[in-house]
Amino acid sequence: MNRSAASRTAVVSRDSSSGSVADFAAAPALPSGEAVANLEAGLRGEVVRPDDAGYDDARSVWNGMIDRRPALVVRCADVADVRSAVAFAREHGLPIAVRGGGHNVSGNAVCDGGVVVDLSALDGVDVDADRRRVRAEGGVTIGALDRATQAYGLAVPQGIVSETGVAGLTLGGGLGWLRRRHGLSCDNLVAVELVTADGQQVRADEQHHPELFWAVRGGGGNFGVVTAFEFRAHPVGPDVFVALVFHPWDGAASALRHWREWQADAPDEVSSLAVLWHAPAIEQIPQAYHHQPVLTFAAVHTGAVADGERELDAVRGNGAPIADLSAVMPYTEAQQVFDEDYPAGLRYYWKSRFLTELTDEAVDVLMELTESSPSPHSTLDLWQLGGEMARVSTEHTAFGDRSAPLLLGVEANWEDTADDDACLAWARRAHRAAEPFSTGAEYLNFPGFLEEGEAVVRQSFGTNYPRLVAVKNQYDPANVFRLNQNVTPDAPR
Ligand SMILES: Cc1cc2nc3c(=O)[nH]c(=O)nc-3n(C[C@H](O)[C@H](O)[C@H](O)COP(=O)(O)OP(=O)(O)OC[C@H]3O[C@@H](n4cnc5c(N)ncnc54)[C@H](O)[C@@H]3O)c2cc1C
Repeated sequence: MNRSAASRTAVVSRDSSSGSVADFAAAPALPSGEAVANLEAGLRGEVVRPDDAGYDDARSVWNGMIDRRPALVVRCADVADVRSAVAFAREHGLPIAVRGGGHNVSGNAVCDGGVVVDLSALDGVDVDADRRRVRAEGGVTIGALDRATQAYGLAVPQGIVSETGVAGLTLGGGLGWLRRRHGLSCDNLVAVELVTADGQQVRADEQHHPELFWAVRGGGGNFGVVTAFEFRAHPVGPDVFVALVFHPWDGAASALRHWREWQADAPDEVSSLAVLWHAPAIEQIPQAYHHQPVLTFAAVHTGAVADGERELDAVRGNGAPIADLSAVMPYTEAQQVFDEDYPAGLRYYWKSRFLTELTDEAVDVLMELTESSPSPHSTLDLWQLGGEMARVSTEHTAFGDRSAPLLLGVEANWEDTADDDACLAWARRAHRAAEPFSTGAEYLNFPGFLEEGEAVVRQSFGTNYPRLVAVKNQYDPANVFRLNQNVTPDAPR
């Protein structure tokens, strides 16, 4: 849905994500030129320095709010490069940022004055169709993974915007259109290959480093640099049925209540979203509704197309929609339905809440927040959960409690720096307003910077947190990998 809100080219602008606007006029101090030259001489990849022509490009991430100036970007070409980059940063006492797809709203894929371990060039995907196993390197995007697996009629559960990185998404959980049928992305991991803080290259699976393997399934980038993921894949497509229905605002509350009842009993083949936002200016939506508040239902049925058409009739027949863009489409296309709504370079600040229920009062709160949003690009997203992802016990992976029936994503998305304060305040207000309906946990892949600090990480991992600390103590006691939703080791040294 093209809202043509901003250029698709990443731009670098002032970084207000840390809550204050720092002065970045001075270039960060570098280790000696000789040390950097020695590092580079040993790489298959390359080093990008602050005075290189490609520096601004190399330090740009998807969120236009982020403007950080690393000392070096190491564009790794293989595992040996990753080991060298980690060793170099440690030797020189520099912070390390790990970049997979560069899409995390927090901008943790880049840091001031440190070393960016950039995995973008590690983009290989190997599909073993007979065993339904897929090996994806650490810099692969969802779109690349989908293309490779769909060539064999397979899919790995991933997120719903194709330019997002597989790495960050999977390490933090991974919610997509297959979540209720085949679980989270991390539930489909069979193994990871990882470079640890002390430079070891290990394979973690159920038999080898089992605690590490437990921790990377939801525990984020805390434990090392994952150079490759091995996933289970599932037969999907090639075509699937996608429901995409837009409701006028005056019918939104009743349509949302209807969706609430329907989704509670929907089959596992269906994963759906209800989005409260402002209508994009696309030709399929009557012009009178452009940029007006609307409610959108998006649902994908990944079973047989005829079953999908039948099951999703209930969503399509609900109320009096202003547009129904539902269609049969290739799975790879379904995976890109929202791509154009998330251009690189726009300004983004997100939060989330797992909800215990969607009460009538919560519906009213979400409607008021939508009406008062300072940006037409912002959204409140209700993710239907349950199904296979909820059948995995809390203890089985690091991800945490899965009993919440819904997840609320609060997305402040806007264009102008002049709107920063209003948009940040709106997201924070929405986050606070949803608190009474929430479990207290957040989906840690969504937030921008966490003002609440460690407390929210601790609360979101819940009873799994002490076990995560134990794994952190073992594999990263010095907290080398701390630019993430950080699990703090007991005694950092
Ligand atoms: C447009 C958009 C759509 C999204 N849609 C979804 C969705 O549908 N479902 C969902 O669950 N989430 C979704 N997300 C959230 C997404 O899961 C996180 O932003 C995720 O961190 C992105 O991963 P990345 O590799 O692109 O990020 P990066 O910014 O590159 O990395 C994020 C963090 O992950 C860690 N990391 C990255 N790569 C590695 C690695 N190879 N080894 C170790 N650590 C690593 C690092 O700590 C890094 O700071 C979306 C985000 C965006 C921006």
